[in-house]
Amino acid sequence: MSHPQAPPPPYSQAVPGYYQPPPQHMPAQGAAPATTVIIHTTTPSFTPISNDPATITCPSCHAVVRTTVIRQPSTSTHLWALILCLFICWPCVCVPYCMDSCQNANHYCPNCNAYIGTYSN
Ligand SMILES: [Zn+2]
Repeated sequence: MSHPQAPPPPYSQAVPGYYQPPPQHMPAQGAAPATTVIIHTTTPSFTPISNDPATITCPSCHAVVRTTVIRQPSTSTHLWALILCLFICWPCVCVPYCMDSCQNANHYCPNCNAYIGTYSN
């Protein structure tokens, strides 16, 4: 009759000196990614309501200014010129280019020369 061997000492469930850190490859939830900031530099928030200079608050320099209007021929200008040329009389072709109401009015800030917006007829 042999002596029963002593039961092995109970192994500790927590192995000392061995700590597994939580995985770090998971992106932090709730952190706002900084890459979604989109600055709309080409889309002015101000829509001119006329082709005349308007007093507005410049979205660029935030100064109350009276816009500088630079008129440019628009698509309708060329269309009216084409209609005049084809159906009415060709000497009148230049008329739409001389009429402000047939042209786009680009508003600019006289303070910082920022593009404000375009009023199109
Ligand atoms: Zn400005």
